[in-house]
Amino acid sequence: MNSQFGIRSLRKKFSSEDACLDFLFKRRHAKRCSCGGTFRRVKGRRKYHCSRCSRQIAPTAGTIFEKSKVPLTLWFHALMMFSNAKSGLAAKTIQRDLEITYKCAWRMARLIRSALTQSEEPLKGEVELDLAFFGGKGVAGKNNEHLSEVFRAKTKVLAAIERKGQARAQVVSNGSAKNHKNFLWQNVSTKDTKLMTDKALQLDNVARPYDRHSVHHKKREFVRGKAHTNTVDWFWSHVKGSLRGTHKHVSPKYLQSYLDGFVFHYNNARSDKQRFEALVDTVLRVRGE
Ligand SMILES: [Zn+2]
Repeated sequence: MNSQFGIRSLRKKFSSEDACLDFLFKRRHAKRCSCGGTFRRVKGRRKYHCSRCSRQIAPTAGTIFEKSKVPLTLWFHALMMFSNAKSGLAAKTIQRDLEITYKCAWRMARLIRSALTQSEEPLKGEVELDLAFFGGKGVAGKNNEHLSEVFRAKTKVLAAIERKGQARAQVVSNGSAKNHKNFLWQNVSTKDTKLMTDKALQLDNVARPYDRHSVHHKKREFVRGKAHTNTVDWFWSHVKGSLRGTHKHVSPKYLQSYLDGFVFHYNNARSDKQRFEALVDTVLRVRGE
């Protein structure tokens, strides 16, 4: 089985509007109507209708494609690019490769990211939790008084990652105990979990329901047996490096949607083909469904 998915697969499978629409239809609907009839394409429209009861289905309804005038072939091309770009995809690259305006490319990238909501399935097993700071000024050479100001201006993000499993990441208003608690309760199961953290004081009370193992980063203790946060540390450096390298600057307003993109890639580290199909399925999920 060919597990790659690039420009050649795209040309072979999705070379026309009809091929793209047929794929979307098959991904979401059965060919057979509940009345026993069969759905057929309505010529010239993004619709199918049942030959017997005349019921109509629009496979793009409620999705990011619905109101877009961009041909589906270009959408699929952008999805392929996004799916293969593990370090993020700049709108500028979409603009160049698809020969469209920057505004259109930026909008497509934003719509793809907006469809990538993170799963609510709780994490368990060995789960690493950490808080990170994004954006704002550097901290080198600042004295203590200025340091706290610099940190206050940064955007705070919490992440939890199962070792050899799934990740979740969320922008929070600050690094308070309350935000840690809400994030943990939403994302990490108290049962069957070994929670790996550093010695963050905010966690002392809120992590009580968990089997917590912590290392003392400030005392330069980074690994003690299974207690370490190497997985989540890798995630932070990958995300920060990618944001710097690919996107240059991301405003705090959009940081969550970029994080959703990195979490999608982390959680779908399978073959390129499987990731592409997972991406199509994800963007096809009708909002509120
Ligand atoms: Zn029917």
